[in-house]
Amino acid sequence: MTQRLYLVDSHLFENECTVLSCKPAKDGFDVVVDETVFFPNKGGQPCDTGALGPVRVTDVRESGDELILRTDGPLVVGEKVIGHIDEARRLDIMEQHTGEHILSWCAYRLFDAMNVGFHCAFTYATLDLDKPLTAEQVTEMEDMANDLIRRNLAVHATTYATEEDRKDVPLRKHAEGLVAPIRVVSIEGADSCTCCAPHVHFTGEVGVAKIVSAVAYKGGMRMTFLCGGRALKQFQKLQTTVDAIARRFSTAGDEALTAVEKQEAELKEVKKQNADLTGKLEAYLTAELRAQAEDVKGKKLLVRLTDTDTKRLRPLALATLPEKGLTLLLTERNGQVAYVLCANGLKLDMADLIPAVNLALGGKGGGRGTLAQGSAPASPGLPETVEQLTAYLRNVLKA
Ligand SMILES: [Zn+2]
Repeated sequence: MTQRLYLVDSHLFENECTVLSCKPAKDGFDVVVDETVFFPNKGGQPCDTGALGPVRVTDVRESGDELILRTDGPLVVGEKVIGHIDEARRLDIMEQHTGEHILSWCAYRLFDAMNVGFHCAFTYATLDLDKPLTAEQVTEMEDMANDLIRRNLAVHATTYATEEDRKDVPLRKHAEGLVAPIRVVSIEGADSCTCCAPHVHFTGEVGVAKIVSAVAYKGGMRMTFLCGGRALKQFQKLQTTVDAIARRFSTAGDEALTAVEKQEAELKEVKKQNADLTGKLEAYLTAELRAQAEDVKGKKLLVRLTDTDTKRLRPLALATLPEKGLTLLLTERNGQVAYVLCANGLKLDMADLIPAVNLALGGKGGGRGTLAQGSAPASPGLPETVEQLTAYLRNVLKA
């Protein structure tokens, strides 16, 4: 069985070991050594990667009591090799994992909330609590965690041979189904819980713990957090964003929100004024169009190519309708012609008239009763087509 050196010293990054076996496997070789610093995928966090002699360790997993190192090349059984883990990756994950212990302790101590889940990915980590907390409580918990970090408390890992040996150590959490020997990770004067993973030696190494989101999850709460180097990177990124916003408003970073709110209010006012003006403009336009309608045997006919917004075409066409009459309004935007055909007080079904309009414009459209509409690709001959459609609809009204 491989001796797991990471359980004894989390800051031991390298050791010499003897290759006990090496078997071909999918995507490489499965290697077993006599002792190693490599931590496997376990307890919600990813494994160590690194070098093992001349080859790379790409994955580490447990198989029963055995520890299997997946390598990208073969090794000679019986040979001695140096194993060296990727230090930055180990340190980063230890920062997150010890940060999780500290945050979980604070939630437990302050609000009796239990940690019921942990996941550490390469850009973020999450912890799940069994009860929801308010935004103020989340801040209080974060403040307490960072106070414990600044105090630079010692973190110890102790292995107890039996439950009896461990019974006087009060635990925040005892992993389900765990049997002796039991490894307990303790933070001086604060947390103690069972854990199999490497941790920092002092809480100060965590640097800072920042909760970046806290959302309802399975009746409790899921918190996403960043510790150490990850928190610093996020701060730098946000600072760059806030500074860029502030520069656009010629103000300081902490005044940016006020500037944005002021602009938001101004925009709201401008939109309101715009809506008022559009309403007034449309009223004038409607009156002007109605005045342009021609009389055909006591009925009104209006056919016009406008430059109105496509979305406003239908209400405008309906507004132009007299007591008895027919309107065809068209608008050309971005290479497309939109058209609305509508009638009022006539014994005509637009379903019977729209096919001729579609055909003349080369478009597709439909409708029935008093309203039909469609669209067509724009063409240079559009004004002539509008003339032809006017003549066609004039004849319809004469009939
Ligand atoms: Zn742990």
